[in-house]
Amino acid sequence: MEIRRFESDLLSSNMYLIVEGDHGIIIDPCRDTAPAEGLVIDYILLTHEHYDHISGVLAWKEATGAMVLCSQACGENIQSPRRNLASTFTAFCELQTWVKLDKLPDADSQFSCHADETFEDETVLTWRGHAFKLFALPGHSLGSIGIILDDRYFFSGDTLIEGVQIALRLPGGSKTRWNTIGAPRLAKLPEGLIVYPGHFDSFIYKRK
Ligand SMILES: [Zn+2]
Repeated sequence: MEIRRFESDLLSSNMYLIVEGDHGIIIDPCRDTAPAEGLVIDYILLTHEHYDHISGVLAWKEATGAMVLCSQACGENIQSPRRNLASTFTAFCELQTWVKLDKLPDADSQFSCHADETFEDETVLTWRGHAFKLFALPGHSLGSIGIILDDRYFFSGDTLIEGVQIALRLPGGSKTRWNTIGAPRLAKLPEGLIVYPGHFDSFIYKRK
């Protein structure tokens, strides 16, 4: 198995492609579908509903026919350009300071899409001898999840990024849900997981 990382042109968000043989799974698709050439893509998993992490859902679905799987709250929010933040994405890019942008990304302010399968709190996807555990980690957004692959690799979305404080104040974020559900779950994860975040490089998980 191989994990490949691609950076989107939208706020440098990470798309991951997990490859086993000639099959693949995409996490947080960006708009460029070239990385799938020669592969059968079975699933598209979403760490959360924000536009920079879902901008490629329609393009990838059309190119590969893969099933889109995410949390129920994420599945609801990706259907609305207001709730997936597409409608305010350009303004957000102008205001943010944590990613240096030479020019504002070309965003589709009307973007919306649908999930094929959702789950409420947690689920396990078994795929070609591997197990993806998907579990709710609300806080950064209501639909945020963690994805742990084979008890070893942790796709953390925007919930855990090295050196970056979790953003709880974007529209749809919840400090209460973070304090009561997200943070306690994160704190229980075993140290040593290899974290693949929604932005920037991988790192090793250590409890605070
Ligand atoms: Zn986000």
